[in-house]
Amino acid sequence: MSSVVQNLVDSNKDYAEKFTQGSLALPPAKKYAVVTCMDARIDPISAFGISLGDAHVIRNAGGNARDALRSLIISQQLLGTQEVVLVKHTGCGMLTFQNADAHGAVKQNLGDAAAEEIGTLDFLPFGDVEQAVKDDVAWLQASKAIPDSVRLSGWVYEVETGKVRSVV
Ligand SMILES: [Zn+2]
Repeated sequence: MSSVVQNLVDSNKDYAEKFTQGSLALPPAKKYAVVTCMDARIDPISAFGISLGDAHVIRNAGGNARDALRSLIISQQLLGTQEVVLVKHTGCGMLTFQNADAHGAVKQNLGDAAAEEIGTLDFLPFGDVEQAVKDDVAWLQASKAIPDSVRLSGWVYEVETGKVRSVV
């Protein structure tokens, strides 16, 4: 058993012993979804005040709206959420590379078959975090798969201070 898996087993044993919230409803009680980055330095539950059962938290590299679309449609159309809070962050890994770098790494480390399999996959890097927040919110606004009634806001979380700031 890896130390990662061992930690999961040990931690979950403690968690489950104290667990009392097994009767929550499936649809998020506060009817919203958070889209944020997978960055290990972000704790959305604590930093953004989310209680268990309140909201969907959709995470991917960069907190990217397009990448989250599948989950957002399920969240809104099947589980009744009516608001999206999109949070990117300072120091994001997506600021550090371009598509060619990621494609080069795949080809070099994994070989031609892997490179062929991913084709022209857009890794969705960005050069300016605030602009990327604006672009993603605008993209959601324009998407016909996101109802006009859905409330949208965009934020930057500072990994250096723990603070969020409003962008749009
Ligand atoms: Zn990030």
